Amino acid sequence: MPSAANEVFLSVVCPFYNEQGMVELFMQNIIPVLEQQEKSYELICIDDGSGDATLSELLEAQQQYPAIRVLSLSRNFGKEAALTAGLDHAQGQVIVPIDADLQDPPELITQLIALWKEGYDVVLAKRTDRSTDSILKRLTARWFYKLHNKISNLNLPENVGDFRLISRKVLMAIQQLPENQRFMKGIFAWVGFKTASVEYKRARRAANKSSFNFVHLWNLALESITSFSSVPLRVWLYMGATISFLSFIYASVIIVRTLILGIQLPGYASLMVTILFLGGIQLMGIGVLGEYIGRIYLETKRRPSYLIDKEY
Ligand code: UDP
Ligand code: MG
Repeated sequence: MPSAANEVFLSVVCPFYNEQGMVELFMQNIIPVLEQQEKSYELICIDDGSGDATLSELLEAQQQYPAIRVLSLSRNFGKEAALTAGLDHAQGQVIVPIDADLQDPPELITQLIALWKEGYDVVLAKRTDRSTDSILKRLTARWFYKLHNKISNLNLPENVGDFRLISRKVLMAIQQLPENQRFMKGIFAWVGFKTASVEYKRARRAANKSSFNFVHLWNLALESITSFSSVPLRVWLYMGATISFLSFIYASVIIVRTLILGIQLPGYASLMVTILFLGGIQLMGIGVLGEYIGRIYLETKRRPSYLIDKEY
């Protein structure tokens, strides 16, 4: 049932970035699922500054399905910001973020809602099978989650993306978090609430190419860790202490040896190794500091995380 202005039950939020050719297919898959629900829905599509015909395709789809709302951002702000924009505009009792590429199966929404009815505030969609991802991507993802969950207080659920159901209560909690660098997966996990999960098999992207390459994923990983953990800052204290301790022992050995055996000239290699090693460590330490200071810098500007060009 399409929505009547202010009594929306289900809000589906979907960011689109250069998804030309995908819009119609997406609608054909998701609209029937939404129509099946006994309550009203809205489908919020965010055009994240696409450079192709995505926006006009969305507007065309809106002609056909009036439950679609289109937000167009003033430029490409990235998926996290686009999702935030959609969440800020969602009016439903339950909210489901979903990707436009049909990697998140819309049919699952019915199951997510069924679990919500049992009293869960968050229902995660868990991928059981990542065989559509490359081995390298799977391995690095696994290491990332292991490391991340070890060094931060936050437990990021593995194999879960942004596709999930959250209740209005959770949405309001999320909106209380003031940061404008929004790593949504972390934010979703941070707020907590009673959580259940549903498993599904992840499909291949239906069309176009994923815009997340290795550099992107690396940045996302850094973003996530620096957003939710200060261990990388603290580790230098221990690293420094260990190295100083070892140096002290080494120095004692040299002194004792000099006292016993007299002055020896050789030692160029060990000197070089020590200097290079310490230099490298120091540079890494400064790099980590830089990472956090950069984030503080961006946060202190208090810029909005997205700007809306027009709402259709
Ligand atoms: N997306 C976006 N802004 C961006 C990049 C991606 O809104 O700058 C959207 C994209 O259209 C898709 C979703 O985010 O709906 C997931 O993107 P993608 O499939 O490229 O990522 P992956 O599935 O590889 O994580
Ligand atoms: Mg995808």
